[in-house]
Amino acid sequence: MSFGDLLRAAPGTRPNLTAIDPRSTPGFDAGKSAARARLQELRDELAEFQEKLWAEQGQSLLVVLQALDAGGKDGLIRKVMTAFNPQGTRVTGFGVPTEEELRHDFLWRVHAATPGKGRIGVFNRSHYEDVLVVRVKELVPESVWRDRYERINAFEAHLAANSTRIVKLYLHISREEQRARFQERLDNPAKHWKWDSGDLETREKWPAYRAAYTDALERCSTDVAPWFVIPADHKWYRDLATAEILAETARAMDPQWPEAEDDVAAIVIPD
Ligand code: AMP
Ligand code: MG
Repeated sequence: MSFGDLLRAAPGTRPNLTAIDPRSTPGFDAGKSAARARLQELRDELAEFQEKLWAEQGQSLLVVLQALDAGGKDGLIRKVMTAFNPQGTRVTGFGVPTEEELRHDFLWRVHAATPGKGRIGVFNRSHYEDVLVVRVKELVPESVWRDRYERINAFEAHLAANSTRIVKLYLHISREEQRARFQERLDNPAKHWKWDSGDLETREKWPAYRAAYTDALERCSTDVAPWFVIPADHKWYRDLATAEILAETARAMDPQWPEAEDDVAAIVIPD
């Protein structure tokens, strides 16, 4: 069974996040050092894929990352997304919307950051915040956020119809692991900058976030834009599973070298 098949949130079904162990390592029991070795092979494969994608100029790849605080999005970008050439890749972080962004519809800033043909886009948080934090903190009335799942599905289907392959990854960490990572941020002066007092407030609302994530996964995992639940307490597994899913996606996209514009065999380069 592929990693995608093991970890995909089946479209139309309600995932039971409580039953998915964040410490588990589905599809891989060889341990950390074997995982790191396999990751290197996958990084090479992803690098080659990207060069073809860039050359072909026909399709694009969008990777959406969501997680609770300390879920490991930044580490994942550093360990896996760096396989891609920065020329042709854009990572976009979505924070609290600016005044101007708030004057537009919630997808405005997101659409502007989507990858064009030949490109890879990575979203560090995304339009899903508009049905997660926005819902939990009651930043808009329920009637507004309720309506958004369908709008998100329509938006993603629109991107898919325009040759964008979408992979959405939810990094699933346990409450204990989050506590340990927060503690590390407090204990290590080099990590103090990551400490955000608002994160404790979010931690307090764990059940509300769990419910909001469950709804988003149920309502917005579709055939054209599937969600994957990545058990993420083990960083090595998180990186490996993500790289495997991206490599499977890359093989399915199968970009091709374009035809040369001239009859290259007949060209003689002058001295
Ligand atoms: P970080 O990813 O740690 O830099 O934090 C970004 C913050 O922006 C998080 O607390 C998010 O919940 C918040 N954020 C992102 N998108 C939205 C949104 N649409 N509305 C409100 N807050 C948001
Ligand atoms: Mg933060």
